[in-house]
Amino acid sequence: MTDSQLRVDLAQFDRNLAHVRETVSPARLMLVVKDDAYGQGLENIAPRAVQSGVELFGAFDVPTGVRVRELVGMGPRILAWQTCGEALIAQAIDSSIDLGVGDQRFLDRIAEVARHKHATARVQLKIDTGLHRNGVRLESWPGFLAQARTYQDEGLVQVIGVWSHIAEASDDDDDAARAVFEAAVAQAEAAGFALEMRHLAASAASFERPEFRYDVVRIGAFCYGIRSADGPNEEYLGVWPISELRACVTQVRHDGVVIGIGWLDGLPSTLAGRMRVLTPAGPRRLQRVWLDASEIDSWPGASVGDTVTIFGGPQAASATDLAELIDTVGEEILVRVSPLIERVCVA
Ligand SMILES: *Cc1c(COP(=O)(O)O)cnc(C)c1O
Repeated sequence: MTDSQLRVDLAQFDRNLAHVRETVSPARLMLVVKDDAYGQGLENIAPRAVQSGVELFGAFDVPTGVRVRELVGMGPRILAWQTCGEALIAQAIDSSIDLGVGDQRFLDRIAEVARHKHATARVQLKIDTGLHRNGVRLESWPGFLAQARTYQDEGLVQVIGVWSHIAEASDDDDDAARAVFEAAVAQAEAAGFALEMRHLAASAASFERPEFRYDVVRIGAFCYGIRSADGPNEEYLGVWPISELRACVTQVRHDGVVIGIGWLDGLPSTLAGRMRVLTPAGPRRLQRVWLDASEIDSWPGASVGDTVTIFGGPQAASATDLAELIDTVGEEILVRVSPLIERVCVA
């Protein structure tokens, strides 16, 4: 008997990457790898992506960026955009990681750290196009650009790009965001910055709306075959899940079969009564989820050591299928899978 596993199909990952790159070309793909590559294991994902031709990584936070740098060497570019303190800014500079900057005081802190280190920080300036999560508002943008210009002239920062993030919820909101983005880019160019990267779209908009692609698209979900909840299916998108979560039968009872995976391992307890687990005899209802085990409907001949699939693989439900049952997104199902569950690469 083996323990629960998240099996990651790297050959499928290659196919997804090829399809995504072809779809968004000539824009370049920035592969987003936040949260341990959406729970699938950065150690395997990042080097494989480089072999597959990925040159840009979106890390979210600096520690992830540093891990990517250790895994892939100096060639690829890495962007981290979570606002952070001086120690992490210094690490970003040391590891040649671009910092996404959506706040004037964060820019000031980066310039201070760079001054201290006698180094130049690579920065990508973030305009707030309506999400209001992070980003400089258009009314403050000219002042922000002027300050960035001063720091660049002092050699403290180098402005590499302008970017933003959009909701990808409604076309009208996204179009309004795009107009703000284009105004911000035009102002940055007028301020004399030679922008290497302009980027706005994540998975959904980059597939559906070519005008959102610019130089770079930041894509996580679709590269891992995670379709959007209530969005187009895998067939339409041309990408397929790369991960399959498996568990083993640990006990056969008269009224059900116990499997060795519970909510502590990342199986949401709210899925009990709502989903089916794929067993050797076909799908069986998930009855109950406990801390470290769950119970499913029985089948003839069930025995300890049998393997079942919770999600992923050619026949079982996808992570997004499960997510839709409990009103969340496929990414959340994946990143909940406990780090204690082994990631096993196949192919
Ligand atoms: C997570 C993230 C992405 C990737 O989004 P997907 O929908 O997974 O493609 C892109 N940009 C930012 C800023 C993100 O945080």
